[in-house]
Amino acid sequence: MSSKKGLLIVISGPSGVGKTTLRQKLLIKYPEMNYAVSVTTRRPRKSEVNGHDYVFVCMEKFKKDIKKGVFAEWAKVGENLYGTSRIFIENAINSGSDVLLDIDVQGAAQLRKLYHEKGVFVFIKPPSFDTLRSRLNLRKTDSEQEINARLTLAKKEIKECNNYNYTLVNKDIDKTLEDLYCIINSEKHNKMN
Ligand code: 5GP
Repeated sequence: MSSKKGLLIVISGPSGVGKTTLRQKLLIKYPEMNYAVSVTTRRPRKSEVNGHDYVFVCMEKFKKDIKKGVFAEWAKVGENLYGTSRIFIENAINSGSDVLLDIDVQGAAQLRKLYHEKGVFVFIKPPSFDTLRSRLNLRKTDSEQEINARLTLAKKEIKECNNYNYTLVNKDIDKTLEDLYCIINSEKHNKMN
């Protein structure tokens, strides 16, 4: 087993800010990175694949897994529960592999306590609420009511950005990707010294 620990890269930000695209592009640019696929009770969207985008489970299974201590963190976001496997994170970090997580602000707060020294926490902000609303509309995955709920939640989440090591405003996805990539490389270098 490698003695060098992997880095935990936690990204958070409001729904529709571009985290999924950013994550997909980062994994292409940085294929050695592991993505921690979350477990959720939410229903899959049309394009989503079980085990790839999320592991989709029922509420009963999720609650049992909470009791068993399966999750390093979990949270209720909107009406659904989301969680990250503790074993997955620990195996990756201990074997020296870097792990990317896309989780909400409540989950990030839990991981900050657990893995403070091993992690870098990056908040992704939209350039404005109007941009966020139009991105959510364009996505065509949510009803008007769901979009309004996501925007209300976004206002609360953005207030948490000061608890993160870095905040990036996602105006241009390729520029944000470059910035995120630089942050990761610099943190890897820092944590190794
Ligand atoms: P969505 O339903 O749009 O895919 O995700 C809704 C929110 O849940 C997003 O902010 C996303 O970052 C967050 N999320 C996804 N997976 C997890 C997880 O494992 N834990 C926590 N705490 N939040 C998650």
